[in-house]
Formats: sequence, structure tokens, C-alpha cells
Amino acid sequence: MADSRSSVQSPCAACKLLRRRCVIDCIFAPYFPADQTLMFSSVHKIFGASNVSKMLQELPENKRWDAVRSLVYEANARIEDPVYGCVGVIFLLQQEVVRLQTQLMQAQAEIMRLQVQGWKPGMITSGIRKLDNFHEEPGNTCFTKEVIHQSIDTASGVDMLFR
Ligand SMILES: [Zn+2]
Repeated sequence: MADSRSSVQSPCAACKLLRRRCVIDCIFAPYFPADQTLMFSSVHKIFGASNVSKMLQELPENKRWDAVRSLVYEANARIEDPVYGCVGVIFLLQQEVVRLQTQLMQAQAEIMRLQVQGWKPGMITSGIRKLDNFHEEPGNTCFTKEVIHQSIDTASGVDMLFR
């Protein structure tokens, strides 16, 4: 009878890369199957197999898949950008959030200004045309317009309530 430490037929990506025997209860086997050597090599290069093994062992089993996914993401980002890693991506997205919040506030201010000038739901089309010309900078224009259109829908909905 085979004991739980006996090696499995096909070693996982980690054991293949580390040139060691892959046991039945290998900590890496469920997350790094044999065909995922590249995925494991990234994680090993940045965090070290021993640290990854420790990290996974300290987590409950139902959290390990998410941990592996984030470790792989972080490792790949660090390989791609040795200075900032995934912090570079986070920083860019935070800047994008601030930029979009500013645009949203400008759009809301514009809606309020139009309403003060007597803007009515029947005039939505001209309002949209006016706001479409409001943000013409490249990148995320669709999202920006979508936000503006949603704001207009909300504003006209509110307007309908008070008629
Ligand atoms: Zn293994």
C-alpha cells in the first residue's frame, strides 16, 4: 500500500522546476499543475519557493487559490516593473480614480448649472450634445460619457419627480 508521502506519477510545476520528488500531499500540486512551470518560476523568482510554501501552509485551504493568484500577479508585475511592481499599477489606477471623480464633479456642476438656467427633460438631447463636447480628451472617453449620460438620466429622473 502506498503511503501519503510516496511520489505521484507526474510532478507538479514546482517540483519539476525544483527537481524534487512530488509527493501526494505536495503543497504546490493543486495550484501549480505540471503545465504551469512559467507561473511557478515567476513566483519562485520573486518570493522563493520556501516562502510561498510557508505562506500557503499558514492559510486555510479555501483561501489558497486566491493567494496563489495574487502572488502570481504580484510576481509578474515585479518582473515586468522591477522598480514599482504592482504598486505602479495601483498608483496609476488611483490617479485615474481622482481624474474621473474630478470629471464627474465637473459634469454634475454642469448639470446643476443647466438646471438653474431652466433645463428641462425635453431638452436632454441638446444637453447630451453639449456635454459630449465637454470632455474630448483621449482615453476613457466612453466611460466619461457614460457617467455623464447616467448623471443626465438621474438628473432628469429627479426632475420628473418634482414636476
Ligand atoms: Zn509537487
